Amino acid sequence: MDGATGAPPGSSGATAEDRLERLIAAWPDGIVEIDRRGTVVGWNAAAEGLLGWSRAQVVGTFAGETLLFGAFAHTPVGLLLAGDGRGEAVDVQLDLRHRDGHLVRARARLVASGAGRGRTVSGFLRPAVERVRVAAPDDGLHDRLTGLANGILFGTTLAQAVEESAATPGSLAVVLLDLDRFTAINSSVGHAGGDAVLTALARRLAAATGEVDLVARRGGDQFLALVREPYGAAGLRAAALTDRIRLALAQPVAVEGGEVFLAASIGVALNTFGVDDPDVLLAHAEGAMEQAKRRGGSRVETFGESLRIQVLDRMATEHSLHRALERRELMLHYQPVVELAGSRTVGVEALIRWDHPDRGLVPPNRFIAVAEESGLIVPIGAWVLEQACHQLRAWHARGPVGPRGSVEVNLSARQIDDPEIVRTVESILTRTGLPPECLTLEITESALMRDAGAALVVLRALKELGVLLAIDDFGAGYSSLSYLQRFPLDILKIDRMFVEELGVRSGAREIVAAVINLAHALRLQVVAEGVETERQLAVLQSLGCDLAQGFLFSHPLPAAELRVGVGVGVGSGLAASA
Ligand code: C2E
Ligand code: CA
Ligand code: CA
Repeated sequence: MDGATGAPPGSSGATAEDRLERLIAAWPDGIVEIDRRGTVVGWNAAAEGLLGWSRAQVVGTFAGETLLFGAFAHTPVGLLLAGDGRGEAVDVQLDLRHRDGHLVRARARLVASGAGRGRTVSGFLRPAVERVRVAAPDDGLHDRLTGLANGILFGTTLAQAVEESAATPGSLAVVLLDLDRFTAINSSVGHAGGDAVLTALARRLAAATGEVDLVARRGGDQFLALVREPYGAAGLRAAALTDRIRLALAQPVAVEGGEVFLAASIGVALNTFGVDDPDVLLAHAEGAMEQAKRRGGSRVETFGESLRIQVLDRMATEHSLHRALERRELMLHYQPVVELAGSRTVGVEALIRWDHPDRGLVPPNRFIAVAEESGLIVPIGAWVLEQACHQLRAWHARGPVGPRGSVEVNLSARQIDDPEIVRTVESILTRTGLPPECLTLEITESALMRDAGAALVVLRALKELGVLLAIDDFGAGYSSLSYLQRFPLDILKIDRMFVEELGVRSGAREIVAAVINLAHALRLQVVAEGVETERQLAVLQSLGCDLAQGFLFSHPLPAAELRVGVGVGVGSGLAASA
């Protein structure tokens, strides 16, 4: 990752590497790369803005001396470098040293790549938005010492979350953390030292939990976190969170006259089937935490009973999903994709629905996760592909459609892993007679990054068939930029979250602008997802976004309710009636 040199963007003859180098140089987040031995090897302009060191001053220095505090091997960077997995990412809060010597607190996503001597860690840095206030608002809902939410605010938030997620077991997790040996810490470093430890811990927990979760101090040395995951995989996310917490605890806390090493007992409870009372959920978390203590502390336990019931519930859903395929309870809705320049509809995204005999129309986030875990997504996905291609072919036969007139189909990670996937797509194209360039396959950023090497092989083979490829929910994960250009992609879909923040959160516009520029530099078309307001539309248009979809244009609709060939409000092509 070299600094920006060379020709200005857009000049002809620039290679993909050149374009990427320039983007890294201009990227709004600080980007730092550190090699196996802790030497700084990459540094962009935003990192200089944040930390004061110029590229020339910092590259080649030992990060443990110039940038980080404490014993390097025990910092999150050192710990990640020491691992030899193929690639991990952690979100941490880092205390970094500014060139002037003062401390800069940054939120960092650390991404490791490579193994052995070739291993490096890249850090994407943003100044920490101080979610932990120095002076807690005196509203009775925040803890005065740490500035975190208090038990009361946690309780009301939890009660609401339990109610909202009642229909999706496994979509909510409560994590309860209790420091081990806190009494001993208190007596050795004194009351003020104890407070300093709790404050430091609060900051690290806030940094480890991420934006959507709530973290609270319950009182004493107990902290709570709420994890929400609409797909019913809160257990997995809670596990990732407790990993990050353990990483955050690995660094000793500096107090007057020395360092304190922390350990904690952590209990996790899930809103499994039948657990629909916030107090019960808390009691389960407590039980699990006590179990962790009983087993010696410094460990994580998940409430056992809940696990058993979750399995039963999943089995029930899985069982009726099997039936769903046979009994034709699955169907597709289609959402138009609209050209921003001319407001023409150029294609549709196929979105699955389950018309359950008892539960009514079930949205995908209620069953896709189960379908993935059970492997049922493979036959279901093949059905979706066939159905969508068939439908588009029928529309084509009926008259003129938009310039691309394509259908976008979502592929899950599990389908990418299926050795038959390329043959399945090929035979469906042959059977339905749909020209391959009319089919776009969407793969989420997280599915791509999970096993990038394997995904690359499959995507190349799919690309050979002539279909288009899109990266979905872009921005929800944190793709390694250098990876993105290796994939044979055609389209990048900006995650709905960013569109939602346009005009609401300062900085959102800059992020979307940067993503659009990145995509265009990599020769990708950009689709903005979840456009709901005229204002969002106007901003996206001004930023040069190519395509959009969202409730502003049309909700996803059954095929019969989409009008074909005649423009209604959104120009010619496939258009929503009404
Ligand atoms: P996705 O691929 O990101 O699909 C877009 C989702 O956003 C859809 O939710 C759509 O209804 C919703 N949406 C569209 N416009 C707006 C808007 O303006 N505002 C808001 N708030 N939402 C909007 P849906 O249909 O519930 O699907 C959820 C997810 O389920 C999809 O997210 C996709 O990841 C997955 N999915 C859907 N169908 C399939 C499928 O056939 N196979 C696989 N593997 N996954 C699918
Ligand atoms: Ca999609
Ligand atoms: Ca999406």
